[in-house]
Amino acid sequence: MQGYECDVLVVGAGPAGSVAALYCSKQGLNTVLIERANKIGAHTNTRIDSSTDFGLTEIIKEMELKTENLVYKSKWHSPSGRSFILHSKIGEYYFKRGPESDSFECVTVSKAIKNGCTLFLDTAVEEINKDGGRFDEVIISQGTEKIVIKPEIIIAADGGNSIFHRYFDKRFVEKKRVAYGVTGKNFIRPDTSGIYFDSELAPGGYFYIVTCLNGISSAGIILDSNKMQKNAGDYFYDYLNENSKIADRLNPITNNFVGYGEIFDLDTYLYENLLFVGDAAGLIDPFLGYGMIPAIISAYCAGKHSVNAVNNKDYSLLNRYAMDIKQRFTKRLPHLYRKVFNSLDNDDFDLLIEMLEGLQSKIDIDELLSQLDSLEYEP
Ligand SMILES: Cc1cc2nc3c(=O)[nH]c(=O)nc-3n(C[C@H](O)[C@H](O)[C@H](O)COP(=O)(O)OP(=O)(O)OC[C@H]3O[C@@H](n4cnc5c(N)ncnc54)[C@H](O)[C@@H]3O)c2cc1C
Repeated sequence: MQGYECDVLVVGAGPAGSVAALYCSKQGLNTVLIERANKIGAHTNTRIDSSTDFGLTEIIKEMELKTENLVYKSKWHSPSGRSFILHSKIGEYYFKRGPESDSFECVTVSKAIKNGCTLFLDTAVEEINKDGGRFDEVIISQGTEKIVIKPEIIIAADGGNSIFHRYFDKRFVEKKRVAYGVTGKNFIRPDTSGIYFDSELAPGGYFYIVTCLNGISSAGIILDSNKMQKNAGDYFYDYLNENSKIADRLNPITNNFVGYGEIFDLDTYLYENLLFVGDAAGLIDPFLGYGMIPAIISAYCAGKHSVNAVNNKDYSLLNRYAMDIKQRFTKRLPHLYRKVFNSLDNDDFDLLIEMLEGLQSKIDIDELLSQLDSLEYEP
């Protein structure tokens, strides 16, 4: 049986795990990354994810993470066809996802490897052992081979159904954000994202279209599982049947995707030497369903606090991770937005877009929205 002693074991090589592994290895920590799939990025069937920039830019620059576009314009559409263009100071990043070598996760993992990170693909976690409260040993298998990993710190980045959840209480698993969509080429201009509200055709969510500078496009529907009465694909195609102008844009289609994100609270983001990041920490934004921002930011924070703890040989410094995450992702405001949007009917959406259109010349709507959002992120 092979054995590894390491500073940090990262479980899961999605966006969060790849960022955590890159941060730790770049800072000189002995880092092991394990991934259940036999290829990085194979677990996701989306090809473009977009996420607003609340604190991402600094991290993206510092770590030289790969992004596609940074878009400042979004066109909001009402059910009756009215629209309003928001020119925002806060950009929206697009990330290429999936198994191709230039996807976000593939590029990030290959940088981590160049910095000395050891990667095991195609792994199954066989045993997790504790010494006192600490998780001190993880036994994995890769084919017929068993490997014992003895880490000082574990970063759980293995998504919404983390193997470590069995040790903790998962609360408020009340909502799932469900997504269905298609990928293709040049659906719309790459400088503006399109968002379409319709409480009947996209209950508890919205329809969206984005295009990257390289032409890859994505169109999808996001739904609230509590409000769904049929499967997500039916909502997507019913939306297109009712909106033929949008349907005409979606050509050619190269693949389709479907999936969900669970929104939950764990009783802790940190237990002794175990840190939860990204979807494993339940950090998906309840309003728009963004998971990339919390995945990258939480992984960066986990990496930073791990480096600090290892370098100072003081693992109590990890406590700051939980505080950081609580401060940054209280989810209060996005929950409120979601509640408000869930209560709107199509006449309300028409009125809202009409009002925003009219108000645009009188007040700085972008400033107002960013003031509201900054309330959430202030310590
Ligand atoms: C259809 C769909 C569309 C989405 N669109 C957007 C979007 O446009 N914008 C946005 O911001 N977010 C979007 N999201 C959410 C976003 O994809 C996630 O929030 C993000 O991928 C979270 O990253 P993560 O690394 O935490 O988890 P994941 O991406 O789930 O990665 C977890 C990794 O861990 C691996 N793993 C799991 N179990 C184990 C194990 N036992 N051992 C080892 N490895 C394991 C998995 O194979 C995977 O590689 C979407 C989600 C879906 C499903």
